[in-house]
Amino acid sequence: MTTTNCDYLVIGAGVAGLALAGDLTRTGAKVVCVDKGRVVGGRCATRTLASGSRVDYGAQYFTARGERFQKWVDEWMAEEKSDLREWNRGYPTWIDGKIRERAPGHPRYAPMSGMQAVGERLARGVDVRVSTTITALTKTGDLWTATGHAHPGETPVSFTAKNVCLTLPAEQLLRVAGGHLPDDWRTRLEGVRYDPAWTLIAVIENDISLPHTAVEFKNHPVLGWLARDNTKRDFLRPEPVLVAHASGAWSRAHIEDWKDSVQAAIFAAIEDVCGEKIQLREGHTHRWRYAAPTQTTGELFLADKVNGLHVCGDGCGGTRMESALTTGGLLAATIG
Ligand SMILES: Cc1cc2nc3c(=O)[nH]c(=O)nc-3n(C[C@H](O)[C@H](O)[C@H](O)COP(=O)(O)OP(=O)(O)OC[C@H]3O[C@@H](n4cnc5c(N)ncnc54)[C@H](O)[C@@H]3O)c2cc1C
Repeated sequence: MTTTNCDYLVIGAGVAGLALAGDLTRTGAKVVCVDKGRVVGGRCATRTLASGSRVDYGAQYFTARGERFQKWVDEWMAEEKSDLREWNRGYPTWIDGKIRERAPGHPRYAPMSGMQAVGERLARGVDVRVSTTITALTKTGDLWTATGHAHPGETPVSFTAKNVCLTLPAEQLLRVAGGHLPDDWRTRLEGVRYDPAWTLIAVIENDISLPHTAVEFKNHPVLGWLARDNTKRDFLRPEPVLVAHASGAWSRAHIEDWKDSVQAAIFAAIEDVCGEKIQLREGHTHRWRYAAPTQTTGELFLADKVNGLHVCGDGCGGTRMESALTTGGLLAATIG
């Protein structure tokens, strides 16, 4: 068993955990951020296809409405070799069989190398341990011990810290730390609800005739979102790739279905809304059990400086990547 001692242990290297860990690290504290995934970024997830194309299969883009985050985005954009682009200023909505245009809104940003780049950028200078799953928390005196295992090989690991910051989706958080939470926190976290999402990545032979970068669906029986992902990356590779998220309701009803039948249903729905036959070259499905919160804790973060136990993430902040990231910064400013 390897044991690591630190001042702050941040569990979860999604954008919330990384923003928090980054700000705490810059105060000079010893911070370690752990994640069970093989890479950082959590739901800002990008897959590399056999062809080399990069595809976003979680968050599709991000907004920058807050001043501090906009500055971070501007700096990234201004770099000489920056791959961050404004993808669009919004997208039309499909309602009752018709695509309705909407007035342009906030810029929607997306890195050409994929949304995972957001996590990679936030992780700069942060001691991040990926492939590390935390399964339990205990407390002795004023010191927390988090235990779990590192992959591959399931090697036991442990971390001790005065402060533990939990940035996981609420259900996962309750499994790891539920027994240590004050009653009112537990009640709040038990009330957090997420929509699931089945996602289809469809590499297609010829681009579809849809003239938009993306469409959001309201009340469609299957679809919630359809993007022509390659429109984010035209400079790199023109291979047409679609990304579709099934709606929360459809995904929930089909959450335990086989991937093949999910792929067939989503693909048929895409052909139906596009009104054309599409030649599928390669398809991949991904199940997100916790895609976007529909009910949050009602607090932007939960902090207990006396006990050294803290919570942030989109279960506190709300549905957008920026909201999750912001909760990390706000928590750091309170406890750092
Ligand atoms: C399909 C989909 C589409 C979306 N589209 C958009 C969009 O277009 N625009 C937008 O702004 N937002 C979008 N979002 C929402 C956005 O991705 C999230 O709100 C945001 O990324 C959440 O960040 P987080 O850090 O709170 O959580 P997460 O990214 O979930 O990070 C939590 C991390 O904790 C890790 N973890 C869990 N359990 C453990 C454990 N026991 N031990 C160690 N690590 C653990 C996980 O691996 C994960 O990396 C979308 C999300 C999904 C899934």
